[in-house]
Amino acid sequence: MKDRKIFVKTFKTRVVSICLSIIICTLIITVVLIYFFRNENIKPPIEIDNKQLIPFQTSSYHIWEAETHTGPPSEITRVIAIQSGDNLMGVLVRAGAERPAAYAAIEALKSYYDPRRDLNIGDEIQISFSPESHYQKANKFGKIKRKYFFKGVTIPVSFDRLIKVTLNEEGTFEANEEKRHIQRETIAASGIIKSNLFVDATSVGVSPTILAKLISIYSFDIDFQRDLWKGDKFELMYEQIRNEKRNIIHDGDIQYAKLTLRNTKLPLYRYKTSSGNLDYFNEKGNSARKTLMLTPIDGARLSSRFGKRKHPILGYTRMHMGIDFAAPIGTPIYAAGNGSILKVGRNGGYGNYVRIRHNSTYQTAYGHLSKFAKRTRVGNRVKQGQIIGFVGNTGRSTGPHLHYEVIRKGRKINPRSVRIPSGEKLKGSELKKFLVFRNTTNKKFSNLFKPNQNFTK
Ligand SMILES: [Zn+2]
Repeated sequence: MKDRKIFVKTFKTRVVSICLSIIICTLIITVVLIYFFRNENIKPPIEIDNKQLIPFQTSSYHIWEAETHTGPPSEITRVIAIQSGDNLMGVLVRAGAERPAAYAAIEALKSYYDPRRDLNIGDEIQISFSPESHYQKANKFGKIKRKYFFKGVTIPVSFDRLIKVTLNEEGTFEANEEKRHIQRETIAASGIIKSNLFVDATSVGVSPTILAKLISIYSFDIDFQRDLWKGDKFELMYEQIRNEKRNIIHDGDIQYAKLTLRNTKLPLYRYKTSSGNLDYFNEKGNSARKTLMLTPIDGARLSSRFGKRKHPILGYTRMHMGIDFAAPIGTPIYAAGNGSILKVGRNGGYGNYVRIRHNSTYQTAYGHLSKFAKRTRVGNRVKQGQIIGFVGNTGRSTGPHLHYEVIRKGRKINPRSVRIPSGEKLKGSELKKFLVFRNTTNKKFSNLFKPNQNFTK
């Protein structure tokens, strides 16, 4: 009985364990079958050599920003940001493109784009891969082993244009230029100089690119190193271009700017004339691109030119480093250009003397004055045509005249040789058109700009 009991017990245990094994095996088989069955429908999106992907996945620069697959079999698109040292061929191959196909694509690209010259660090290029079935016939570049193959690449050429290279039905790569989906947005910014222009402008969101443009459009008027003081104000309106993801991809041109330097307001408007001249004009319709006045005095007679001459008092021949204009005592003298007063007072042979700094390149000097205008004080800003003083006969002078000098980068030059492109002054109907444009622009700025945004009065 004991033996039988033992036998029954062992028999039962065996049956139980066999049953359990069968159940476990069935479960495993089912799971495996389900897994494989699913896999037959949904192919893994990446069947490209995974080893090649590892550097991308670990490097912060190479993130697959978009890897789309919308149901099997679908196309894969990878976005790569170009890094320093990258070349297009290398990037395509690393992303999984077959070498001959990548080469053919680059060849097709060349009529539009030179990858050696035009590829920039940070450019985001999109590389597409197609499932084999779609283009099986088309793919003549061999290597059918892979389930996905390189189908094309999209490269940004400018903020609003793309070049798209795609494999066509004939199996060759074709390049096409396309417009990018961009959004233009007008930005208004304003602020007060507290530390310096760079810090204060960037703190209200102005990019260094826009700041560089601002400095450039005011270069005929202002020396930014010296003329900007604490408490001075700036206003700016410019265009920003964003991509589909709302990222800023480009800073457009400044449409309007106004600098308030102490009490001088200097607005500039970007305006295209009927004749197609695109320029910045001040509130009166004068181009910001202005020359220095050749004759900073009215009703005067040119009495001595620049160059060698026999000095009337000292008697020997020497260089005359300026131009003389004979005029009665008291005739007004004008600032030859916008700028700030550098020197006012007695200056040896020059007698009563004024020196104006126009920008970092040009200065002008005025000699033999009888008296100075009230506002002619060191550090004050002057506008082109503003009276700075009056003709006299002070210093080493034989008769009432203005001695006028132009100093370029510290050297006295012939005022007649100043080659600053002369500025356009809008007149008549063109001026009327401009004034309407100016008022619209002012309105646009004040509508865009909410006073409590970042502006303190
Ligand atoms: Zn002179």
